[in-house]
Amino acid sequence: MRTRLVVGNWKMNGSRAANAALLQAVRASGPWTAEVAVCVPAPYLVETALALQGSMMSWGAQDCSAHEAGAYTGEVAASMLAEFGCRYAIVGHSERRAYHGESDQVVADKAKRALAHGLTPIVCVGETLAQREAGETEAVVKRQMSAVIRTLEHCISQVVVAYEPVWAIGTGRTASPAQAQAVHALLRGQLLAATEKAAQMRLLYGGSVKADNAPALFAEPDIDGGLIGGASLVATEFAAICRAAARP
Ligand code: PEP
Repeated sequence: MRTRLVVGNWKMNGSRAANAALLQAVRASGPWTAEVAVCVPAPYLVETALALQGSMMSWGAQDCSAHEAGAYTGEVAASMLAEFGCRYAIVGHSERRAYHGESDQVVADKAKRALAHGLTPIVCVGETLAQREAGETEAVVKRQMSAVIRTLEHCISQVVVAYEPVWAIGTGRTASPAQAQAVHALLRGQLLAATEKAAQMRLLYGGSVKADNAPALFAEPDIDGGLIGGASLVATEFAAICRAAARP
């Protein structure tokens, strides 16, 4: 049985005071049977690690460099994150793909670098609205996933995958449970062809998950939790989503 995972993606939000209050409230709302993590902006990583010491929650970064070290101004190396006990690194979020031009191969290289330093990459894939309307959803997510499969080879089973339809991110428009399940089943099938451990891999859904739609999404057989943006900034919403991820 796969342990469900709920990951908050704060994106570029927060302040020291707001983070402390949010982390304290979320922490106090546990324990949960699902695993819970937050991926916070880089300057807040260490303070987050300290605030979560002794709790069930883990923490992660929202990105990491594809490079080991060197002249890459502004980038954060996976090795640096690992030094502080970072557990997860989101890679290939659609906002990084869209605003920073990250290609499928760069995303795969980031995942590889994260794994090499003991971080678990959360690899995001997902189609735009235009691609969905053109009937390209399957081709797009398979192409994004295959770059990672090809690059990681037998290590692919160590990643977490997040299916995040771009048209559902921050829009309030969620994929229906059936739409999300269809893509998750497709991705699991693709992973099964690459690794015998695909049945144990966690596939998260992300895109306007809220307390009220989380139970139906999490009830789908191939949805193993969520990557939560906006709702992870509201302690009561995030806590309710974490509770909804409990296995019946
Ligand atoms: C995200 O940023 O990964 C995300 C899913 O955002 P939201 O929940 O706000 O749609």
